[in-house]
Amino acid sequence: MDLIDIGANLTHDSFDHDRDAVMQRARDAGVVQMVVTGASREHSPQALKLAQSHPGELFATAGVHPHHASEYTTECDAEMRALHQHPEVVAVGECGLDYFRDFSPRPAQRRAFEMQLQIAAETNKPVFLHQRDAHADFMSVMRGFDGRLGPAVVHCFTGSRDELFDYLDQDWHVGITGWLCDERRGQHLRELVRNIPANRLMIETDAPYLLPRTVKPAPSHRRNEPMYLAHIVEELARDRGEEVAVTAANSTATARAFFGLSG
Ligand SMILES: [Zn+2]
Repeated sequence: MDLIDIGANLTHDSFDHDRDAVMQRARDAGVVQMVVTGASREHSPQALKLAQSHPGELFATAGVHPHHASEYTTECDAEMRALHQHPEVVAVGECGLDYFRDFSPRPAQRRAFEMQLQIAAETNKPVFLHQRDAHADFMSVMRGFDGRLGPAVVHCFTGSRDELFDYLDQDWHVGITGWLCDERRGQHLRELVRNIPANRLMIETDAPYLLPRTVKPAPSHRRNEPMYLAHIVEELARDRGEEVAVTAANSTATARAFFGLSG
C-alpha cells in the first residue's frame, strides 16, 4: 500500500527531536511521499529545506495560514514568490480564511488570501486551501479568481454537505484527515465522504495536529504522525464501502496528478 500524506506539518517543533524516526515510521506504514505544509513566513522556508534534503520523497508548499495573515507584508509576499521559484515547492498555501479562531483580523485574512491566490494565478501552481467557519467569504474570494487558477484542494475538510457540494461543483479537490475519526465532531463526515469522486479525494494527517481518536492505544504524547495515515485510510475506505487498497491507490494517483509528483 503506497500512501501520500498531502498535509504534514513536519517542520513543527514537536518533531525537532525525532524527525528522522518519524519519517522512518511513516515509511514503514506505507507512506511513500509527503507534502510538507508551509504555513507561515517562518516555516515555509523550512518546509522547502526539508523537501530539498529528501528529494523525491518530501515536497513542500509555501504559504501563510490565515492565523498568520497579519504577517503578510509586501516583504513576505516577495519571500513567498522566491520560494515558489523552487521545483520542490509544489503548491501555493496553506492559505485561506479561518473565522473560527480569528487569530488575524478578517480584512487581513482576505488580503493575504488574495495575494497568495495572485501568486498561484501567475505561477499556475495548485492551491492548498484552508477554510473554517468562513465559507461564504471563502467562496467569494475564490470567485474573484475564476478561470485563473490551476487545481485547488480544500485541505482538512470538516464542513457541511452544502460546503462539500460547493467545492465539488467547482471541480476542486478535498483532503480528508483523521477528523473523520472524531466521534464528537466528525461523525457527519462518515456519510459525506461517499460523495467525493475518487479523482477528487486525497488523504492527509495534518500532523502533529488531529491525532485520529480511533487510534488504539493512543500514544501518551497525543502527537499525530504521518504513520497514522494508514489508519485514516482504513477508516475512510470503510465509510466509502471500498477495499482499503482501492481507496489507497486512488488517493495516491490523485495526489500525484494534483501535485505533479512522479511515483
Ligand atoms: Zn488548515
